[in-house]
Amino acid sequence: MKRILIMIMALMAAAALLVAGCGGDKKEAAEKVLRVGTEPTFAPFEFQKEGSKEYDGFDMDLIRAVGKQMGYKVEIQNMGFDALIPALNAGNIDVVAAGMSITDERKQAVTFSEPYYTSGLIIMVNKDNNDIKSLKDLEGKRIACQIGTTGEGKARSVAGAKVTAFNTNTEAAMELTNHGVDAVINDSPVVGYYLAQGGNKTAKTVGEVMEAEQYGLAVKKGNDKLAADINKALAELKKNGEYDKIYKTWFGEVKK
Ligand code: GLN
Repeated sequence: MKRILIMIMALMAAAALLVAGCGGDKKEAAEKVLRVGTEPTFAPFEFQKEGSKEYDGFDMDLIRAVGKQMGYKVEIQNMGFDALIPALNAGNIDVVAAGMSITDERKQAVTFSEPYYTSGLIIMVNKDNNDIKSLKDLEGKRIACQIGTTGEGKARSVAGAKVTAFNTNTEAAMELTNHGVDAVINDSPVVGYYLAQGGNKTAKTVGEVMEAEQYGLAVKKGNDKLAADINKALAELKKNGEYDKIYKTWFGEVKK
């Protein structure tokens, strides 16, 4: 009796292995998908041209190149900036590509790739504003920013400031144009692009770029295999000139 039971159990185990094996093969035959989360009001890193659903920008080109290098089909999902890390942790996306600065606080929640771009925050005010020249001058003033960003963190560090955190950068900039706030704090290359695209008719930057921030691609904490594969792909793209090509497309010159 006992021997028969053992035989049945062994057969069942073998069958289970076979089924698992087949399933695995099937999965590998289908195209692997890299689910990418972004927040597309952050030109020139991620944005949608008016009337288009396509995702444009430096990060978008970079993540598509990274995915290609890794043999993945890249699918991009649009969500609020403050929803990106929760989406990673819930397993709804595999990677965040959103001009996300590598910070100690975020490192507690996610695993970052090697840095791929150096940025920093800057203050933008209306052209007719001659009172605000530095962060100190923002004390007690109204500041707009995007929710969940390092810009919001900086704004909240200003004594007595009234901070409004918007879902999108577009709304934050509009609030400044409407004189609903005195300043916006956002990433310098994004503010620069906005001004160059016509924002300079009404707005300008003041002061220097605040301390440097590095952008990283983020994966779920502990997903070291994916992080390593992404780093390998990034290194390859830097070596084979693809990174420089993408950089040139969006910033006009190759960063040294
Ligand atoms: N780099 C900033 C941050 O990580 C802003 C990013 C963004 O708005 N997409 O918070």
